[in-house]
Amino acid sequence: MYDIIIIGAGPAGLTAAIYARRASKSVLVLEALTYGGQIINTPSIANYPAAPDISGFEFATKVYEQAEALGAEFVYEKAADIQRSENGASFFVKTDENEYEGKAVIIAAGSVNRKLGLPNEEELVGRGVSYCATCDGAFYRGKRTAVAGGGNTALEDALYLADLAEKVYIVHRRDAFRGEETTVNALKQRPNVEFVLNSSVTKLCADKKLTGIEVTDKNTGETRELAVDGLFVAIGRVPSDIGFNVGTRDSGYIDAGEDCRTNVPGIFAAGDCREKEVRQLVTAAADGAVAATEAVRYIASLR
Ligand code: NAP
Repeated sequence: MYDIIIIGAGPAGLTAAIYARRASKSVLVLEALTYGGQIINTPSIANYPAAPDISGFEFATKVYEQAEALGAEFVYEKAADIQRSENGASFFVKTDENEYEGKAVIIAAGSVNRKLGLPNEEELVGRGVSYCATCDGAFYRGKRTAVAGGGNTALEDALYLADLAEKVYIVHRRDAFRGEETTVNALKQRPNVEFVLNSSVTKLCADKKLTGIEVTDKNTGETRELAVDGLFVAIGRVPSDIGFNVGTRDSGYIDAGEDCRTNVPGIFAAGDCREKEVRQLVTAAADGAVAATEAVRYIASLR
């Protein structure tokens, strides 16, 4: 049996692993994909203290190596369920392959990309529709692209694509951006970037692969088609649909306060999967530290 099982190896989960190992607890980290979470797709993290110029992948690798060197165990399996043991003193975390027992569980499962919800969106993924500019941007070198969204992800995606693509439209439903002004100003300097504001993507035009997008101006109701080969959807994230039997808010995010405690004693929530105001790398890492500290306290209370 492990002391602490951590679900998710993003910044929250990895930080929790570091804190838990430094408290001499045995730690298993379950990760469905690869370590790092969402941050690995960020070309440059500019707002993490003392790391002004580091890529998301480099950052995640350093945190992962730190957790591993401290003795955290990593298993690449997708956690599907958490059940309390019959005597109530531990939890069983089930994956498709195995079952692991731990005294406490930290859910740091992050969130997933929000979809536009257009009829043929799913079938065009990999054929012109992408949710990750740093992963797929290179396929659009010299081509025409659009980014949907107005947050930091959309702005950074657009800036990244501006270096590669012939054209980058930024389609945003309002006239003000949610993302940082510095990035907006940087985009304004790029001759191949065009802002399409107060507008939504209302149709994906395709002939086996994406050929264009229909955008509708929300003020005038006018529609027009932009010929693009690639659309990068960056309209935020939604909670992953695995609730793990803990209480959630109406938003779908796990209901846990700043102490990261869920409604189930012994199960904690850290990072983007927790209901919170500010979802940032630094707050995810902070949650990891808090959740691990609370989990260590909880385990001590079992004696
Ligand atoms: P976000 O900040 O939530 O922004 C989502 C954007 O998508 C908003 O502009 C929103 O429009 C728009 N949107 C939402 N639903 C939509 C829909 N159905 N149709 C069209 N547009 C829609 O998400 P994010 O950009 O992914 O960023 C998530 C968090 O990570 C943020 O806190 C962000 O600051 C952070 N982040 C930080 C960095 C960095 O610091 N380097 C990089 C990336 C992300 P409205 O504005 O009208 O609501």
